[in-house]
Amino acid sequence: MSYRHVVVGAGVAGLACAIETARRGIKTLVIDREPVIGGTLWYSSGHMSAAGTRRQRRLGIDDDAGRHLIEVERLGRGQLTPSLVRLAIDGAAATLDWLEDEGFEMAADMPIIAKSHEPYEIRRTCWGVAGGVSILKVLQRLLAEPEIRANLNVRSGCLVEGLDLDASPVMLFVRNGGRIEEIDAPELTLATGGFGADPELLKAWHGQSSLYGGGSFADGTMMRLLVDKGAEVVGIGTFLPTLGGYAQRADSNLVDWSKKLAINPQQRRVPEMFLDAEGRRFINENSESINGVERTFLEHRIDTYHVLGSFDTLARSAPLLGGAGASQDEQRALISAIAGARIGSLDAVLGDGGAFAENVRAELSLKAGATDRYGRHWSDADILSGEFYLIPCQTVVLRTWPGIRVDDDMHLIVNGAPHAHVHCLGEMLGGVQFSGASFASGMSLTPALTLARRLGASLT
Ligand SMILES: Cc1cc2nc3c(=O)[nH]c(=O)nc-3n(C[C@H](O)[C@H](O)[C@H](O)COP(=O)(O)OP(=O)(O)OC[C@H]3O[C@@H](n4cnc5c(N)ncnc54)[C@H](O)[C@@H]3O)c2cc1C
Repeated sequence: MSYRHVVVGAGVAGLACAIETARRGIKTLVIDREPVIGGTLWYSSGHMSAAGTRRQRRLGIDDDAGRHLIEVERLGRGQLTPSLVRLAIDGAAATLDWLEDEGFEMAADMPIIAKSHEPYEIRRTCWGVAGGVSILKVLQRLLAEPEIRANLNVRSGCLVEGLDLDASPVMLFVRNGGRIEEIDAPELTLATGGFGADPELLKAWHGQSSLYGGGSFADGTMMRLLVDKGAEVVGIGTFLPTLGGYAQRADSNLVDWSKKLAINPQQRRVPEMFLDAEGRRFINENSESINGVERTFLEHRIDTYHVLGSFDTLARSAPLLGGAGASQDEQRALISAIAGARIGSLDAVLGDGGAFAENVRAELSLKAGATDRYGRHWSDADILSGEFYLIPCQTVVLRTWPGIRVDDDMHLIVNGAPHAHVHCLGEMLGGVQFSGASFASGMSLTPALTLARRLGASLT
């Protein structure tokens, strides 16, 4: 069977685009390297943001795309791609309304002002009861609709490992088990996600190492292929680390993000200290701005650090690990299972002296009632004492920043000109194009869905 539209990548962007073309009667093939579709939706928290939604109006929340745009531009510090952000934000309310029409199960009390990133001023962030999986459920239901199924075929477990952009039609080289298959793609949409699972690309394009909270498939294979063919990567060197990760596997930089340490001051007052490789503090762990904290890590080029706390202070605080109701015993067990973590007296956790131990001891010589050099106030209850824990941590990325340059119709720019029949969508465009040098809540998933549906509605 021949297809008019071939989509590589069955994540949120690829699926939303493919569903739209198939719904319009265009024969569509989706190819994905994994055995199961959904991509990063299986990992994602699923936060989306939109202004002017039906839901907001029902709740009397006064909001519009103009105000959303101003906030995203402010957070993005001028580094985003204005025309793409405008398209994404202008279409976001229709995306959310559509999801709800299609049976999206919204979590209670949405929308809210989310605090996991620098907060918006207006309640416009929302997510589903099962995070990213709530979005996937809607897409899966649509895939099963007879009028869409009649025009759409999904081939999973097939890796696209080459493409000829000069051929007419464009040709894909697809590894299917032991053989390579050639597939014509009169209209080709690439939606293969980011590159967080490739430590080499992280170092090259972010300029710093990190752990990654998504899947091994996000290894940038397609982005490398496109660069070889003359595509341009926007935003090299731009990146913001996320805190709370620690190495979980010896063989890769992948981490299960649901096991993160709760050291984001927006979600929990942080009783611990963060220490650099020399055992020195470098930040007010309870700074008001989460972007400010993340930016400090970047400015100091810190990709590994330690979290030092004591069980005395932890007993008076919200849990560090294990979620809202975790007991001290559960937290102790989880901390001791982290590779390299130490629990015990100060002497025991600091080991046999050296500069690190000396510096940590100096940092601990705080007096209750004092305000330290970072502006953090230390009360009696905050002073670390008794039994300590020292956890080696590494910065994490949840989505990658640099991405492939496209025009406003999502055409791939190759050797300086738009390719008439090749489009790119989703995270492969890079976080930087939609929220600049910052996180803006929901500004990966919502643009991915909105621009995918827009492209799907325009292809012929
Ligand atoms: C822990 C975590 C939490 C997050 N939370 C949020 C959030 O709350 N809000 C938000 O906006 N964003 C969030 N994100 C980011 C967001 O989820 C992703 O940016 C988005 O899901 C990416 O969608 P995508 O369709 O572009 O790519 P993906 O979902 O990554 O899909 C790409 C697909 O392409 C396939 N593929 C890759 N290469 C090939 C190839 N060569 N051949 C064939 N197939 C290939 C992969 O198997 C995969 O299925 C989060 C990410 C993580 C990891």
